[in-house]
Amino acid sequence: MDLGLKGKKAIVCASSKGLGRGCAEALAAAGVDLVLNARTASTLEETAEAIRTAHGVNVQTVACDITTEEGRAEVLSVLPDPDILVNNAGGPPPGLWSDWKIDDFEKALHANMLTPIMLMKHTLPHMIDRGWGRVVNITSQSVKAPIPALGLSNSARAGLTGYVAGTSRQVAEYGVTINNLLPGMHATDRAQALDGGVVKAQGITMEEAQKQRQATIPARRYGTTQEFGAACAFLCSVHAGFIVGQNILHDGGGTNATI
Ligand code: NAP
Repeated sequence: MDLGLKGKKAIVCASSKGLGRGCAEALAAAGVDLVLNARTASTLEETAEAIRTAHGVNVQTVACDITTEEGRAEVLSVLPDPDILVNNAGGPPPGLWSDWKIDDFEKALHANMLTPIMLMKHTLPHMIDRGWGRVVNITSQSVKAPIPALGLSNSARAGLTGYVAGTSRQVAEYGVTINNLLPGMHATDRAQALDGGVVKAQGITMEEAQKQRQATIPARRYGTTQEFGAACAFLCSVHAGFIVGQNILHDGGGTNATI
């Protein structure tokens, strides 16, 4: 299917690895020029070069922390008016509800709620002027069904979800869509870190921990970054203009819910 995106320009945040990279690759395959971001310059440049070579699109990089005001300003100075914005950042660490302090919440809110909101605030006016735009926020299945150890993530992402529910309905008339893509367990460094948490807590091997977590998914495996990227690219495509303010699970059936 031609996604109708050739020549469009996208910012993909936190995209040197994992789900963000999956989105960047799928958009590049559809002919989208990219601004990629991550904190580690070397990995970011390696990813950018691999994408340039594979897809022949223009890829610029901005090595910075997207959760800071300076980082966001740097990214926006390179591309202030993207057609497409994919919001992403690292997820907060797991822990116990009784241990988190106000600082922990503030960090999570900045990373997973306020950063995407501020990036939308700056880019939506350009999309509205142009009469076309796409925003996809990478959130989590924890928005639909809370994950007890990820209370910081549950809280921050719920805030972003509420913002998107209201804002997406105010910009849809201008041809701009905002949707959230909710990953379940995917084979990335983040998933490995969470597997490691199970290893530590239960004193089992990494393989056992992965098997245990995969057994909780009806698809009986982790998702791939390619599958996730393809879903993101479809939401950005010309075919998805009537999908507005949705929270789309990409979780192999992992969230046990009727709707
Ligand atoms: P990942 O494999 O660890 O990749 C994270 C990427 O983001 C890397 O490129 C990393 O590069 C970059 N990054 C992290 N913090 C950043 C920051 N502050 N500023 C700029 N770039 C940053 O993670 P992932 O599995 O793709 O997860 C992406 C998001 O989806 C996270 O919020 C995660 O919580 C959520 N999620 C993931 C899963 C899953 O199973 N994978 C499930 C549910 C939700 P640098 O470290 O160099 O900055």
